[in-house]
Amino acid sequence: SLADNLPNNLRDGGFVAEGYSSRLDKLRALRNESRRYILDLEAKEKALTNIPTLKIKYNNILGHFFEVTQLQKEKLKKTQNYERFISRQSLKGVARYSTEELSKLSESINNSAEQAIEIELKIFQELKEIVHENRENLSNISESVARFDVLSSLAVLAEENKYVKPQMVKENILEIKEGRHSSVEKALKNSGENSFCSNDCNLSNKDVGYLDFKSNDCDLSNNDRIWLLTGPNMAGKSTFLRQNAIIAILAQAGSFVPADKAKIGIVDMLFSRVGAADDLGSGRSTFMVEMVETAAILNQASENSFVIMDEVGRGTSTYDGLSIAWSILEHLHNVNNCRTLFATHYHELTKLSDSLLALSCHTMQVKEWKNKVIFLYNVVEGTANQSYGIHVADLAGIPEKVLIRAKTILQNFEKEYKEDLDVKKTKNSGSNIDVSARFLDLINEISVLDPNSLSPKQALELMYDFVNRVEKINRKKED
Ligand code: ADP
Repeated sequence: SLADNLPNNLRDGGFVAEGYSSRLDKLRALRNESRRYILDLEAKEKALTNIPTLKIKYNNILGHFFEVTQLQKEKLKKTQNYERFISRQSLKGVARYSTEELSKLSESINNSAEQAIEIELKIFQELKEIVHENRENLSNISESVARFDVLSSLAVLAEENKYVKPQMVKENILEIKEGRHSSVEKALKNSGENSFCSNDCNLSNKDVGYLDFKSNDCDLSNNDRIWLLTGPNMAGKSTFLRQNAIIAILAQAGSFVPADKAKIGIVDMLFSRVGAADDLGSGRSTFMVEMVETAAILNQASENSFVIMDEVGRGTSTYDGLSIAWSILEHLHNVNNCRTLFATHYHELTKLSDSLLALSCHTMQVKEWKNKVIFLYNVVEGTANQSYGIHVADLAGIPEKVLIRAKTILQNFEKEYKEDLDVKKTKNSGSNIDVSARFLDLINEISVLDPNSLSPKQALELMYDFVNRVEKINRKKED
């Protein structure tokens, strides 16, 4: 019943399709015919009056009227049967007239237009009632069409972009072979630049306790619960993080995924801390937003969750940020126990792979060539050896003078940091060994205790003794 192109206002009419109501079609034909009659009448009067610029015009107040310029008024008066022209309006430059023939025609046009719109409005009202009566069916049809639309779109996407069916498993793993970020891949294809470089991701949350790592029957073949990803800016870290999160979401939404193979342990909650949006309107700085979001992750992520964290701790001073990022990683590893991809520009964090068993270091591969950095977009095991921030600044078009100056400053900072570190090492090495040995003694003593054979009083005394000794060791450490 409805036309293809609909007007903004019902009163404009024209929204009922042709062929739906024969009465409406007749009225419309009449209206169109009348327009032709108007043109015929205009041509006829032009010839009779011999005034080629005579026109029939229309406005809301006068309806249809003839219009001539004031100069041609005299000529009009000399026309045969001039009396048929009834003056309607005389303005500064033009004079307006009507004739009986024109009035009749105008009335018939107006009538048919008015009748047509009345019919259209009536049809619209009927249509609304039909929709209302059939609302349940219409809702069901819409929902089915929507569902079909989503599923067929996903199928087309999978077919066109070589997605695969993911395998959903109960174990807490995330094994992605040759995963891709579909929209970055598409953007690269459209721009005709490099093609997208696919990457594997292999996280596993096998429960390997702190002390179990020495036992022989413990399988350590893949116990990477956390991948710590370092690499220069623009090397593809965020893309890698996001592509794996998107793959998990697509898989759980029932879609095929952009990878060669995917085995995914069901993710109960997926958390992402990416980007640097602030919320100044409600009084929250970029860093505050970052911390609020991180707090939500640390407080909620379970061992079945999947977390991606991109550059956490960036919004504050270096050491402040580093310390926060460090303890967040420890907490994710020791308390949340969740599968995590953690991208950072703090290379210092890679030291954590010594103490955190389920954490391994990965980096975005880059190649240095003729003093330039080439990004290979490959995720490989290992750590980045520098940030290449100055190289990226170069790519972005920062003036050469600024770059040269930045290089000098960086070299000075690195030299100072190294000297500082050397002095600290020689100062502390003796006492550190001493402190560690005392802690070890204490742990040995605790490990041979049999709590069942102790009386409450003995246990309390031992506790006081241990606390005392820990305090002493700590004082020595501070000295
Ligand atoms: P980072 O987080 O390390 O700063 P991004 O993930 O934002 O880097 O990636 C920067 C750009 O590099 C992307 O916009 C994209 O053009 C390109 N890129 C990222 N990953 C890949 C990839 N796997 N293959 C090809 N190009 C990539």
